[in-house]
Amino acid sequence: MKSLKILFFAVIFIFAFQQCGTELKPNTEETQTKKTETPKIADFALVIHGGAGTILKKNMTDEQEKAYREKLNEALSVGEKILKEGGSSMDAVTQTIMVMENSPLFNAGKGAVFTNEGINEMDASFMEGKTMNAGAVGGLTVIKNPILAARAVMEKSEHVLLTGNGAETFAKEQGIEVVDTKYFYTDRRWKSLERAKKTEKVELSESEDEAEEKKHGTVGCVALDKEGNLAAGTSTGGMTNKKYNRFGDVPIIGAGTYANNNTCAVSCTGHGEYFIRWAVAHDISAMIEYKGVDLETAGKAVINEKLVKVGGSGGAICVDKYGNISMPFNSEGMYRGFVKADGTRKVSIFK
Ligand code: ASP
Repeated sequence: MKSLKILFFAVIFIFAFQQCGTELKPNTEETQTKKTETPKIADFALVIHGGAGTILKKNMTDEQEKAYREKLNEALSVGEKILKEGGSSMDAVTQTIMVMENSPLFNAGKGAVFTNEGINEMDASFMEGKTMNAGAVGGLTVIKNPILAARAVMEKSEHVLLTGNGAETFAKEQGIEVVDTKYFYTDRRWKSLERAKKTEKVELSESEDEAEEKKHGTVGCVALDKEGNLAAGTSTGGMTNKKYNRFGDVPIIGAGTYANNNTCAVSCTGHGEYFIRWAVAHDISAMIEYKGVDLETAGKAVINEKLVKVGGSGGAICVDKYGNISMPFNSEGMYRGFVKADGTRKVSIFK
């Protein structure tokens, strides 16, 4: 009798457990089919940023503005070509970011800002929405294109984040191009360091040249390819006059970069410490996933409401799984642009 009772309860328990398991399973085939029923509004889409901050028309010559617009357009064209020909969002993001890393205009790669010690320490990250794989590097000093190192960490290692000498050793082992530290010298960034040192502040603080010091020149790219796969990447020199091997949000997955095929891809730029504490890139994705809001609403809630309340300046570029685009920012300007499969393209700088 007793063993019959035990058997009875065991059957009930197993049945209840199975029911519960079915309800909790987030990605059943059924839900996935339902999710893909909504058609994509764009066959592919690509969005870029070249940093946000005190970017005002009055502080820029026509030549400077032209140079930025041209470089942003060049970057968009590189990514657009890859996506148009059926290439992956990962390749589009990588190649697009490399265009900006190779330009002295942005605070990434060639144009990276100087640390307090007068060197360039660069961070980058990469995430693939399909697999949720991610890779990031921090504190690189001799790698020409940090985004390549971040992607290699994702694809060629079992890790997510590598830093300093170790990250550089790994990148060299992967055959990624190394340059002399002099390659990253630019007069403009050196002057910024001298100014920042006088006031003993980092880039975002008030200084003699407020406009220059309040710019975040980080670069980023997010893309949706024809296969419906999302990818995101971000690359930066961090903040002028930074000390103590400081890392911002860029190498922190979920803070500066995030991609999830079920929601969206996000790349951020701004005062990194806030973006880390508010897990900004992931928060935008989570609002879509948990609250069911659209991309625009999610981006605005995080960048224009949450961050504004606490004084975290910056912005984000986002594309969702349908090809919707959003580029929220709470600063005076953000270098930004997008291109879609139907040929729609726009490059903007100011509010
Ligand atoms: N987010 C970067 C950092 O804090 C800076 C930037 O966006 O320019 O390192």
